[in-house]
Amino acid sequence: AQIPTVSLNNGTSIPQLGFGVYQVPPDETERAVLTAFEAGYRHIDTAQMYQNEAGVGRALRNSGLAREDVYITTKLNNDSHEPAVARAALEQSLRELDVDHVDLFLIHWPLPTRYGGDYVSTWRTLTELAAEGKATSVGVSNFHPEHLKRIVDETGIVPAINQIEVHPYLTNEDARLASGRLNVAVEAWSPIAQGAVLDDPVLVELAEKYGKTPAQVTLRWHIERGDIIFPKSVTPERVKENADIFDFSLPADEVNRITALDKGEEGRTGPNPDTFD
Ligand code: NAD
Repeated sequence: AQIPTVSLNNGTSIPQLGFGVYQVPPDETERAVLTAFEAGYRHIDTAQMYQNEAGVGRALRNSGLAREDVYITTKLNNDSHEPAVARAALEQSLRELDVDHVDLFLIHWPLPTRYGGDYVSTWRTLTELAAEGKATSVGVSNFHPEHLKRIVDETGIVPAINQIEVHPYLTNEDARLASGRLNVAVEAWSPIAQGAVLDDPVLVELAEKYGKTPAQVTLRWHIERGDIIFPKSVTPERVKENADIFDFSLPADEVNRITALDKGEEGRTGPNPDTFD
């Protein structure tokens, strides 16, 4: 079945399902991304930090797919927030990816104390890079409501996307709702909590009911909630499995049962953006 798209606040759209390449080793990335393309994925989520942009670029080039048919996201590294450094970092990403623009460029982490907490200048730089056509859309990642409010108040420019940790054990509703109120689309990273949710009795029960796997039920829950996801796997069978979620749906009461699995801070798999610096 066709992968749906989500409309962004700048008039562009993004495939709601993509393929994440965090922790995919550089020398395995081309093959992993080609496997994802074969399974129908047309959206790749990488980052300067992952050190595998060149592999994504090789896969794009060797896939035979047209550039405009693939959505590519990368993210600014934490050591590159200063405006001139951020500009040079995107140029380097474009060379690694061998493209003339990315579809989406994100500030990876707000880093609320490093650089004197000045992620506002970083954000302004990204908006300039978008105006220059080097990134079709720009956004942020790991921004809490107060971080979002600050960049919007100080620049008047609303990000297209906020990419945050969201899965059944950390539903992160405050950051999701703050994004939604500003018409910022939410991308849910670690959508299956790197596997931590897959033995949950509720997910196992629903998986049996629909003849799906717990991973597929979890990914479908994200789709029902309107979030954008890019599960990661280097196992071809799982890459296919994670895309096979468009032939069933979950009614509202089942979506709510999964949402109720939230463990709050205890469910977090990554660092808290307020203290990660
Ligand atoms: P994920 O939730 O996608 O889980 C991936 C892991 O789950 C795999 O390594 C594999 O062990 C397992 N898995 C995958 N599919 C499975 C299946 N069908 N059945 C059983 N096990 C399965 O975790 P992730 O890779 O951390 O997150 C996805 C993507 O999100 C990343 O690749 C990256 O692109 C992005 N991300 C962004 C940030 C950020 O700070 N912005 C942080 C982490 C991840």
